[in-house]
Amino acid sequence: MTLIFEKSIKDRRGVSLPQSDVPVKAIVPTALRRKTTAQFPEVSELDVVRHFTKLSQKNFSVDTQFYPLGSCTMKYNPRFTEKVAALSGFAELHPLLPQLRHGERFTQGALELLYGLEQLLCEITGMKNFTMQPLAGAHGELTGIMMIAAYHKAKGNKKKYIIVPDTAHGTNPATAIIAGYETVSIPTGPQGVMDLERLKKALTPEVAGMMLTCPDTLGIFNSDIDKIAQMVHDVDGLMYYDGANLNAILGRCRPGDIGFDVIHLNTHKTFTTPHGGGGPGAGPVGVSEKLVKYLPISRVVKNSDGQFVLNYAYPDSIGYVASFYGNFGLLVRAYAYILLLGKEGLIETSNHAVLNANYIMQSLKKFYHLPYPRTCMHECVLSAVHQAQRGVHAIDIAKYLIDQDVHPPTVYFPLTVKEAMMIEPTETESKQTIDEFIKLMIEVNRVSIENPEQFKDLPRRMPISRPDEVKAARDLNTNFFGRALDGPSAQNKTAVHS
Ligand SMILES: *Cc1c(COP(=O)(O)O)cnc(C)c1O
Repeated sequence: MTLIFEKSIKDRRGVSLPQSDVPVKAIVPTALRRKTTAQFPEVSELDVVRHFTKLSQKNFSVDTQFYPLGSCTMKYNPRFTEKVAALSGFAELHPLLPQLRHGERFTQGALELLYGLEQLLCEITGMKNFTMQPLAGAHGELTGIMMIAAYHKAKGNKKKYIIVPDTAHGTNPATAIIAGYETVSIPTGPQGVMDLERLKKALTPEVAGMMLTCPDTLGIFNSDIDKIAQMVHDVDGLMYYDGANLNAILGRCRPGDIGFDVIHLNTHKTFTTPHGGGGPGAGPVGVSEKLVKYLPISRVVKNSDGQFVLNYAYPDSIGYVASFYGNFGLLVRAYAYILLLGKEGLIETSNHAVLNANYIMQSLKKFYHLPYPRTCMHECVLSAVHQAQRGVHAIDIAKYLIDQDVHPPTVYFPLTVKEAMMIEPTETESKQTIDEFIKLMIEVNRVSIENPEQFKDLPRRMPISRPDEVKAARDLNTNFFGRALDGPSAQNKTAVHS
């Protein structure tokens, strides 16, 4: 695949517009203006269309392949929600349109949607209020921990630590540290859940709070959760629920009822908004009563006359965490999805997510080691330790699946399981697709017995086989394709992925 810069032919154009006869009013200060013209590739419109269409065909995507990537939840993005988000009243709305006075006709619908989504998410999670601003799960975490910090600061609490279990998603400890805390890691006990004795020892008055994923990244629901919340509250710590993935508990239990004070949701995991290619995400954050006054501004409120307005008058707010109102287009999709399914539909969603994961776990446990043999939630964690004894590691299994047009499960996570393979089929896959996957995994095991050597040079069908991933991250080489590039892209270091 050539780069679009390599297709550049001097003076070739996509569209030629006549010279503008409108005087250009300079609003960018001279010092900030570029001195030379931007060096874009010079290509025709057809070159561009073909280039990007071909690139898109090289993608693994939910639209083309089974994608059981545990924790990341690659579920199908329904076309219905795409259609709603494309309605011109949403898609063409400018964020600077005045909210009231002469502009009210334009923004009332958008504000009502933000308000309505907040109500729905409060109902689903049992929280008091939500902000829609954060742009991803990790960003939501930071927003939540900043509110926890504001709470302690206002009370004069001297707090230093955030507790995270050893199965936590990597963003949890990273968030706590960026927010200025130190982390204390609590190990997982033999049942696959947090060791309560160790927790007791760690709970000093300096604990600001705990970040918990439940069901955790082993796919296990922690039935001590209310006890844990009580213990943390007893030292005036706050409970943070990592709700990136709510697929197992949607409509069944509410973190707010269990004692959580903050939660973030990933609309791009639970509420079917797209998240391919590092694209925009949305991580709405909900809070309990204790933290409402710290929520980011602006907030959408409903006046007594039924008008929706943006309110900035919250003196204790932590301020903005993103420009305007978050990734609005994704919020539209999430809202449409929730309304489309309704309460019963959401419950069905979690039923199927959990059933599908358990079906895979039960079908494969004869062939792969199952480190925690209990009913799982929306994802199951298997281990390739048996296969590894034959020299076939989780990474080799992943490469085998790629060649068979199946996206590999998440591998080597959670970190507490050797040769981990974390499988999340999601609720949208049919029994036929899941059966094909099970058959394929059984075949992988058979090949690992009969011909372990065969894995070494997989994948064979992909444009790139096995890049040295550590080197690719540490020592980026933009001349990866062996060709020097002209133009600005040569300075733009790009990561090379398989
Ligand atoms: C995906 C995920 C996150 C991070 O969400 P991003 O949108 O990728 O920042 C945090 N916690 C858990 C459990 C996740 O699965």
